[in-house]
Amino acid sequence: MTPLRSVLIANRGEIAVRIIKTCRAMGLESVAVYSDADRDALHVRLADRAVPIGGSAPRESYLNIPAIVEAARRSQASAIHPGYGFLAENADFAAACEQAGITFIGPQAKAIRAMGSKAGSRKLAQEAGVPVVPGSADEDFATLGLPVLIKASAGGGGRGMRVVRSAGEFPAALAAARGEAERAFGDGSLLVEKYVEHARHVEIQIFGDHHGNVMHLYERDCSIQRRHQKIIEESPSPAVTPEIRERMAAAALALAKKIGYTSAGTVEFLLAPSGEFYFIEVNTRIQVEHPVTEMITGLDLIRLQIEVAQGARLPSLPPMRGHAIEARLYAEDPANNFLPSTGNLQVWQPPQGIAGLRVDSGVEKETEVSVHYDPLLAKVIAHGPDRESVIRKLSYALSNFYVLGPTTNREFLIDVLEHEEFRTGKAHTETRVTSRSSPQAQQAEDEVAVTVAAVYGAHREHAQRRILPSVPVRYRNNPYPHPAAKFRIGEREYEASDTGSRVRIAGVKEDHVDALVEGIRRRFTVSQDGDEYYVCSNLAQRKVTRLSRYPRRHGGGQQESANSPMPGQVLRIMVTAGQKVKPGDALVTLEAMKMEQTIKANMEGVVRAILVRPGEMVAPGQMLVEIESTEENNEHARGANPNG
Ligand code: ADP
Ligand code: ADP
Ligand code: MG
Repeated sequence: MTPLRSVLIANRGEIAVRIIKTCRAMGLESVAVYSDADRDALHVRLADRAVPIGGSAPRESYLNIPAIVEAARRSQASAIHPGYGFLAENADFAAACEQAGITFIGPQAKAIRAMGSKAGSRKLAQEAGVPVVPGSADEDFATLGLPVLIKASAGGGGRGMRVVRSAGEFPAALAAARGEAERAFGDGSLLVEKYVEHARHVEIQIFGDHHGNVMHLYERDCSIQRRHQKIIEESPSPAVTPEIRERMAAAALALAKKIGYTSAGTVEFLLAPSGEFYFIEVNTRIQVEHPVTEMITGLDLIRLQIEVAQGARLPSLPPMRGHAIEARLYAEDPANNFLPSTGNLQVWQPPQGIAGLRVDSGVEKETEVSVHYDPLLAKVIAHGPDRESVIRKLSYALSNFYVLGPTTNREFLIDVLEHEEFRTGKAHTETRVTSRSSPQAQQAEDEVAVTVAAVYGAHREHAQRRILPSVPVRYRNNPYPHPAAKFRIGEREYEASDTGSRVRIAGVKEDHVDALVEGIRRRFTVSQDGDEYYVCSNLAQRKVTRLSRYPRRHGGGQQESANSPMPGQVLRIMVTAGQKVKPGDALVTLEAMKMEQTIKANMEGVVRAILVRPGEMVAPGQMLVEIESTEENNEHARGANPNG
């Protein structure tokens, strides 16, 4: 095998940025590809060269095999790294690279194909003597006993999975899963598995070289999930004993050997409370959560992938060093069923100066988080000598990660880290976390943010008019030019003077406001864009909107409508104009960022108008369907209710 000179990265976002970093460290030229929507993206700027791969739909660009292979040829890239997602587990893509004489940095096409179907990989695992979850590909659940889990054989990202707890639900769940599998993966094959209750998700990082060697790099525990998708990952697993580790790693390696695995891969297992574990699937690529393994082994897994692709032999297994935990920061709303959110990143300030902390991200201040791609904003990874200190460090880092614009899961991640079940190492895939913070505490922080915003705004106004030569040294309890100024945070309105004497301003300097809140001095980082103030501290981050002195009148119409709960694309419309509907009737199915969401009616009525068409992109809050109430007294009725 010949040494590589340049690597084209067939991906975007944080993983593209991550791969570019290793290319630079290895002296390899990096080539980015980009869709029209990503023209100004970070990965494009960081790469040594970049090739547009146009296309009408921004997502399809990164799935266009001929365009990407052609980009590699034109830029004379000798290798392609697929990252994760998109074409990473597409055997045809690996084969197309092989045929074009381009080194595919990943396993061989035949290994990807063999592991691409969950049903097929189960069979191979069984042949290799690896325990699998009881299940069947013939969609028969009687022998398994309830509950069962229906999943797409070609699936990924937790999509299209359905837990069935009663026999009656089974047929409808099966049909729905098949439809979603066909649309999402172009393959309706399903797998029915026994649902393992209170299981932990534990996976083994494997690696193979081209000399017949395979090795493991310990486990990762990814039990904290929502919608069957990981949000917090760690290594080592608090539930894995040396004995389980040895057996699980041996099982993973038996399968890796059987399929002649090369490059990085992950063998996923469910660990039951009994201590038994079962194979679920193999991911034939670098994993989102690979930094956790990098931190405890000291290896650069992307570098290892590139070296192995050039014919290098595997290193010996490094000892496990300490503990590492990763949290995935997403643009999504935990309070609204974790639906993705969009918008401009007005504030983006990752924490600085924390030893043993790593932030992998593909976004920056003012990046537009769009509906086109995965809503992952950053991965925050902490490393330290033991689990407890790492939990503390990660929680601290997330508290000091300033991000405003789209709604994020930042506070939710902190809630998970602080949660008793997680802290004691007992969390499993069904662990559900509720907010630590009381509404009263939230409101108190709202009021502080309003005071800080008001003072900051007044200060800027004066500074601009050059009335104040410097920051006044005196503070006053009500230091506003317009004491009646009104502000809004979310749906709630505040008067600038609401905090009374709780908050005293100590000073304003550039983008900082120092304030004494109940006698404790705190520093706030503030920025302003017109009437919007972004107020961040390690206790709370708020977007504060100054309301106009002449509030707009709200229209008081009787219109009942079904509105979109998220930005997305209309997939299907299940009603026609004139049709009678009752609460719970499905109206419209939307799709956004790998999620399907059905909007249902929550009142009785007649469909008056359908305001969208299949394929149309819709904005959050956009009216989809108009329903006229047939009930006399339907005061509380709204048009629709997103169901999750
Ligand atoms: P994907 O390809 O979407 O990653 P997986 O088969 O890896 O699908 O499963 C994703 C998650 O769904 C697992 O991490 C686990 O939380 C849950 N899950 C999968 N199979 C089962 C099962 N048989 N019993 C209980 N939970 C399961
Ligand atoms: P006046 O209130 O008559 O305009 P000041 O010089 O006392 O005169 O205050 C000017 C403005 O500066 C106040 O209205 C207030 O918005 C702001 N201000 C006053 N004191 C402080 C302070 N300690 N920190 C920040 N801003 C302040
Ligand atoms: Mg999986």
